[in-house]
Amino acid sequence: MEHAGSKILPEDPEATEIGLGTPATRAEIIEKIIDRGYAKRIGKKAIIPTDAGIRLIEVLPEKLTSPAMTVEWEKQLAEIGSGTKNPDSFMCGIRQLTSSIVSSAAVPYTFGPVALGKCPICNGNVYEGKVGKNYYCQNKTCGFNVWKKAAFHPTISPEDMTFLLKNGTLKKPSGEYTLLKEAPYIQFEKAAFTPVKVDEAELSAYLRSKGITPVSKVASHGSFWIPGGFEIKPIIQEINKKYHVPAGFSKDAKALGHRPGWFIKGGYFI
Ligand SMILES: [Zn+2]
Repeated sequence: MEHAGSKILPEDPEATEIGLGTPATRAEIIEKIIDRGYAKRIGKKAIIPTDAGIRLIEVLPEKLTSPAMTVEWEKQLAEIGSGTKNPDSFMCGIRQLTSSIVSSAAVPYTFGPVALGKCPICNGNVYEGKVGKNYYCQNKTCGFNVWKKAAFHPTISPEDMTFLLKNGTLKKPSGEYTLLKEAPYIQFEKAAFTPVKVDEAELSAYLRSKGITPVSKVASHGSFWIPGGFEIKPIIQEINKKYHVPAGFSKDAKALGHRPGWFIKGGYFI
């Protein structure tokens, strides 16, 4: 480290004499960095940056993280020491730099993924997946994973997930959802709103107007089936909103000849 400056200012004849501290101060600086949690020892020889260390470097302006700046300061201080530089002009430069760094730091900066809350299993941080399809626990061995979209629950937004992690339950128009400590992690519990009895004829007519032919097993104490996959989800959500009844989904519905489809239990019908 004491030679750091020589790599940065190779053309400067004095550069070899200017470095970042001395071997004596180096140990102290490294201990301070470890002490503050910005780096850690791996075995006896290696020191690696911690997440906090990496993030600190990300947050700090490039100028402050460059050894070149310290080298430049050391050089100017040496010039002040030898009487060739005016200390006031050095301090004026420091003041200007400090003021510009502070004003740029006032801009809000978010780094890395933001934790949505604590994992119900291991209390680790829960993050939104990079491609935005799921929510996962930071601890890979934990296995906590919630899909944003799944057949048995409505779309869970990051705000919903934060609420679920904090409160354990979430009310949506289709019902109340509970966060479990084991797969599938989210469970539909009960309709949070009093269901409105569904008029079968009215619902069938509505679906036909959308080009969908439902299959009703209500008369034989079965469910009312609506063939289709996620492409008809907006229609299912409309039905949820109108009647406050939950709709389930099956990829392989027997009633529909093993096609995918949504179902509303017969008990919800007039
Ligand atoms: Zn976990």
